Amino acid sequence: MAEPKLRVLSLGAGVQSTTLALMAAHGEIGPMPDCAIFADTQDEPAAVYEHLAWLRSPNVLPFPVHIVTAGRLSDALRAGEDLARIPCHVGKGGLSGRQCTRNFKLRPIRREVRRLLGVGPRGYIAPGAVEMWVGISADEAIRKKPSGAAFLVNRHPLIERFTSRRDCLAWLDEHGYPRPPKSRCKYCPFQGNDGWRSIQADPGDWSEVVGLDRWLREPAQIARFRGELFLHKSRQPLEVADLSEPDLPLFGGEFAHECEGMCGV
Ligand code: SF4
Repeated sequence: MAEPKLRVLSLGAGVQSTTLALMAAHGEIGPMPDCAIFADTQDEPAAVYEHLAWLRSPNVLPFPVHIVTAGRLSDALRAGEDLARIPCHVGKGGLSGRQCTRNFKLRPIRREVRRLLGVGPRGYIAPGAVEMWVGISADEAIRKKPSGAAFLVNRHPLIERFTSRRDCLAWLDEHGYPRPPKSRCKYCPFQGNDGWRSIQADPGDWSEVVGLDRWLREPAQIARFRGELFLHKSRQPLEVADLSEPDLPLFGGEFAHECEGMCGV
């Protein structure tokens, strides 16, 4: 296959994709990406935006970090947009259908890739023209999948190097870098109790997610979603859910159901 015209790092601004970006900066993984792209749902915790600002500050990464957004995900969800559905825990069991990653992460990144290539929304791009680095670590390799678009080839450098999330943390410590916060929407139902407790520590964020959780079970939403939805896996309202239970290690990680490698990395 011909050399890619563009190498892009999909940056979630969490542990794995931050390590990937910094390993590239150190020359440990190559060839150097042309840029990183962060798709902003506008609902990440403040610590993630602070970490992203540091990554974009001078002398940290040798390539630009572009930020793209399709708007605020929670606003679109509350406005009734089906394209903004998040993966909630259904009262009767299972997870509700998820559209958020595709429409608020994947598509904005692909639009930016087209812009960088100077190709319009339906313009032709040769197969393999873009190499996309995805920050899935070896312990979450179950999430790995092809891009589904001929022009875009997903590459998983951390899996190639057998690097786990724990190895990423050790590498960051060894090189004196700050440990990145957990990257995900504040209300993401995939997160475990560690994540919920960190949201609870910020009263503003906590009141926002509790409000969203209650809204999911208002009569109009129960009718729309055909049942009760919950943000917490216990299927209890967030304000009464037991957040003290330790998170058990899950096969594929908390975001095992999110196979695009855009969230939680
Ligand atoms: S972090 Fe969760 S809620 Fe946010 S886009 Fe990803 S799956 Fe959806």
